[in-house]
Amino acid sequence: MSDVELPTDYHRRLPYGERVPADPVLGGPFFPFDGELKVVPLAEPVLPEPPRAGEPGGAPCPTCAEPERDAIWGDDQWLLKAGFEATGLPLVALLVPREHLRLDELPPELTTTLGPMIQRTAGAIRRIPGVARTHFSRWGDGSEHFHVWFLARPLGMMQMRGPMLAAWDDLLPRVPDEEFLANARTVAAALAETSGNPLGRAVA
Ligand SMILES: [Zn+2]
Repeated sequence: MSDVELPTDYHRRLPYGERVPADPVLGGPFFPFDGELKVVPLAEPVLPEPPRAGEPGGAPCPTCAEPERDAIWGDDQWLLKAGFEATGLPLVALLVPREHLRLDELPPELTTTLGPMIQRTAGAIRRIPGVARTHFSRWGDGSEHFHVWFLARPLGMMQMRGPMLAAWDDLLPRVPDEEFLANARTVAAALAETSGNPLGRAVA
C-alpha cells in the first residue's frame, strides 16, 4: 500500500493489490465468459484524477478538433456519430452536442431536446432490420465533451440483454462495412424525418 490518502470509508475498505473472486458473475445468464477467470488485482485510487480529454491539462477534445468526423446525422444542436471503429453489433453510436459542454453545463435549450433526442435515436436504431432494442448509457470517463452511447441489441439474442452488451460488441464478428453503411443510412434518414440531415457516409 502506498502512502496515498484514502478519502472515504468506502476507499479504506477495498482490498487493494488483491484479486477479488470472480464467482459472483460467473455462470450468470448474461455473462459472456466461461471457465477459469482471474480478476486483475485491484488498483489503488489515483488522486487527484488525471484530466480527461478536453479538460485543462488533458489531451485536446477529439470532438471539437473535428466536429463532424464520423457524424452520420446532425441538426443545429446535436450530432450522431458512428463507424469510428468496426463493431460486432449492428450499430454503436454516440450522441454529442455540437458545443463543448459537460452534462452539468447543458443549457435549457439542450436539456429540453436531450430527452426527445434519446427517444428519437433509440427509435431510429430499432428501424435497423434485426434490432430488438436500443441500449443507451453515459459514462464520460474518457472525454469531457458530453456524449451518450447507443448500442443496438440484436433481435432474439437473449444472452446479450443488459450491460454485457458492450462486451459482446467487442467479441462478435465485425459487421461488414457495406452493412454498417446501410444501417447508418437507415438511422440517419429516420432522424432526419424530424430535424437535421444525414451527414458524411450516411448521405445516400
Ligand atoms: Zn469538445
